[in-house]
Amino acid sequence: MPTATIAKEFTFDAAHSLPNSDGPCKRLHGHTYHVMVVARGRTQPVDGRAEEGMVVDFTRIKEVFKRRVEARCDHQYLNETVPVERTTAELLAAWMLGELRAELPQVVAVRVSETPSSWAEVTLDDLRTMAEEA
Ligand SMILES: [Zn+2]
Repeated sequence: MPTATIAKEFTFDAAHSLPNSDGPCKRLHGHTYHVMVVARGRTQPVDGRAEEGMVVDFTRIKEVFKRRVEARCDHQYLNETVPVERTTAELLAAWMLGELRAELPQVVAVRVSETPSSWAEVTLDDLRTMAEEA
């Protein structure tokens, strides 16, 4: 079966602040966050199981995202609900990637956008680099 890359996008609204930032993100404010979850792997064999022909079922990505990520982010103050040192898009993406991979090892990257013109992405390679430096 071929290898494939798939992605699913989610949105949620949340407040945050970056206390040491030089810019306006220092103050309490909100974003409609867009999150792109990317999964990659071999498509599963066509053998009568529910995920045959898929890398991972989009419905399962949605279920895990809602339970492990959205529940702690949507209409929340991220500085208080997400266990990251700072609620930058980069650190949020790293945390989300770890949460999703705990149940879906096919997830290889998470991209977080605070605005339509900017995003931060953390990949599996980035996580490995972080682990080596720790
Ligand atoms: Zn912000």
